[in-house]
Amino acid sequence: MSGAKSVAPENRTVIGLTFGNSNSSIAYTVDDKAEVIANEDGDRQIPTILSYVDGDEYYGQQAKAFLIRNPNNTVAYFRDFLGKDFEHIDPTHNHASAHPKDVDGAVSFTIKDKAEEDAEPSTVSVSEVATRYLRRLVGSASDYLGKKVTSAVITVPTNFNDKQKAALLAAANAADLEVLQLISEPVAAALAYDARPEAQVEDKIVVVAELGGTRSDVAVIASRQGMYTVLATAHDYEFNGVALDKILMDHFAKEFLKRNPSAKDPRENARGLAKLKFEAEATKRALSIGANASFSVESLSDGIDFASTINRLRYETLSRTVFEGINRLVESVIKKAGLDVLDIDEVILSGGTAHTPRIASNFSNIFPQTTRILAPSTNPYAINPSELGARGAALQASLIQDYEADDIDQSTHAAVTTVAHISNAIGVVSLNAAGEEIFVPVVPAETAVPAKRTVHVAAPKDGGDVLVKFVEGNTHIKVTKPEPKPKEDKTAKVEDAADSDEESDFSDDEEEEEEKREKVWNIGNTLAEAAIRNVKKGGKVEVTVQVNADLSVILTTREVGAQGGVRGQLNA
Ligand code: ATP
Repeated sequence: MSGAKSVAPENRTVIGLTFGNSNSSIAYTVDDKAEVIANEDGDRQIPTILSYVDGDEYYGQQAKAFLIRNPNNTVAYFRDFLGKDFEHIDPTHNHASAHPKDVDGAVSFTIKDKAEEDAEPSTVSVSEVATRYLRRLVGSASDYLGKKVTSAVITVPTNFNDKQKAALLAAANAADLEVLQLISEPVAAALAYDARPEAQVEDKIVVVAELGGTRSDVAVIASRQGMYTVLATAHDYEFNGVALDKILMDHFAKEFLKRNPSAKDPRENARGLAKLKFEAEATKRALSIGANASFSVESLSDGIDFASTINRLRYETLSRTVFEGINRLVESVIKKAGLDVLDIDEVILSGGTAHTPRIASNFSNIFPQTTRILAPSTNPYAINPSELGARGAALQASLIQDYEADDIDQSTHAAVTTVAHISNAIGVVSLNAAGEEIFVPVVPAETAVPAKRTVHVAAPKDGGDVLVKFVEGNTHIKVTKPEPKPKEDKTAKVEDAADSDEESDFSDDEEEEEEKREKVWNIGNTLAEAAIRNVKKGGKVEVTVQVNADLSVILTTREVGAQGGVRGQLNA
């Protein structure tokens, strides 16, 4: 980070920030607990929007309201343009606000941001827009904390490249903000959960589904003794919150036209479209909490007011394609990581769209019961998905705030890069109660290296010479088909179903018993064998596996409580 703004540790006031295309959030820590703070409008999810009226700058929710009356001087959905050439951006979401334009390849917006009536509009680069917006966030945070915020950890998507990161750093520095670190969004979400006082740091494989307004990003992460390794990621720009808004906009626009056949379609007029969008989003949010929600807009088209309601089942039916797209995205990234749903210990739902109950319940159907689905609708202990990123970033900020800027390594931190890890588990062969050979993992698969682990294995009951066999282990999925059942008469059921409405085919009540799938260990290649002589009756053997950064392995074993032992080294 040469040339970047740096602040002496003793002078820092730090925060965690998420800076999304749709919303941003600010968090800070008190007594090692992260809290998301509200800006002066009382918002914790602050729309990433700037709007100019008569030379005054509005941001957040106030700027969002101006999308209806002042769209041309309102800049929205710009974060993903940072660090990109004009020809590589997707301006789809900017049709109802200031349009991005090409100024010598750089993405810019032309807006009237000065007070004078006759002032020429300004052309402002996306970097400058980001700087102005970040300045407002920092201002709100400073007001709230009662002291000038100097530094932040900011979250970024896992596919942000170096140019995008550099552009974000520069934009933040220009807003007088030191960036302590950029951490990836899924790692921030995992950190927010793992830093809770009641959390047990355990080895686990976690899927983080980051579901926002314009993008859905999913990552598979291995968490090994508090170290996170990103195993695979997937990104989608189609199945997102904006797509859900659009579904409700179309639904209500059609209903409006049905009731008012001679009125103009509100979707064909910029203001009508903006009103539809604003209200559709509010209705969508209400449907995350209640079974019904209202929708009402004054003067939607041709001066005609419109009010209606929708129930959650209807909404879920209409949105099925989007929800299924999100399911496929999650399944694809697990496959990409070379894993199975049975390997996943935890699914963290993060981002605004993650509030949607149907998305979480669909995940409950994809994953086995042993997988924890962390979403507000499936787990009472879930953290608000809209706050995870900022909380994780604030916790990371408080961890590293005492380091000099040069000592915080931007590029090699596990939170940002995929680090080396072993793909097979390493363990030893033991006998189960039935006398069969089983694999006992010492270092689990996907552990970031270097790593050193020790386990104690019971020696045979009567003691004596024990042969310790070090092996690689991998898992396979054992499928047990259900016993075929005699067919029952289903006529009665079909008659019932005929009465029910269109949602019936979307229900979960699958009658067919499913095949049983379980994860079982295979004993793989033998790495080494070691003999321990004269283990005492009822004794235990300690086994240590150390995997070095170059993937060479040191194996040691000895009787617990005894002197000596055997040590061997395997080269990578
Ligand atoms: P992106 O960068 O993908 O545009 P973001 O990270 O900036 O997204 P988020 O706040 O995570 O923004 O997500 C915004 C989306 O979440 C919007 O589409 C918003 O309507 C939706 N959303 C927010 N709250 C809820 C809720 N309670 N129920 C359903 N959707 C919600």
